[in-house]
Amino acid sequence: MKIPRPDEVDATTTHIPARPVWSCVTCDEPWPCRDRREQLIVEYRADVLPLALYLAACLVDAAYDLPDTPAGDLYQRFLGWLRNWSARTPGDSAPA
Ligand SMILES: [Zn+2]
Repeated sequence: MKIPRPDEVDATTTHIPARPVWSCVTCDEPWPCRDRREQLIVEYRADVLPLALYLAACLVDAAYDLPDTPAGDLYQRFLGWLRNWSARTPGDSAPA
């Protein structure tokens, strides 16, 4: 499976990252911004794994572009929100 790079993402969104600062070109929030997160959830709602792989690839690129940003901060920004979102998804097999 090919993971799209940030410059190859869905052309219908304007909420794309401005590299190397990784801020949204539309709303200037840290990318992925709130609007882009909501779009990603809709685009990938059938399967969270490809979304996680895509965001992980973005995280790696951001780590190169933002070497002074702590890895934990980048993790929370790119993947932490996804973990919180998927935990709320109906049908989740969370432990009892
Ligand atoms: Zn945005």
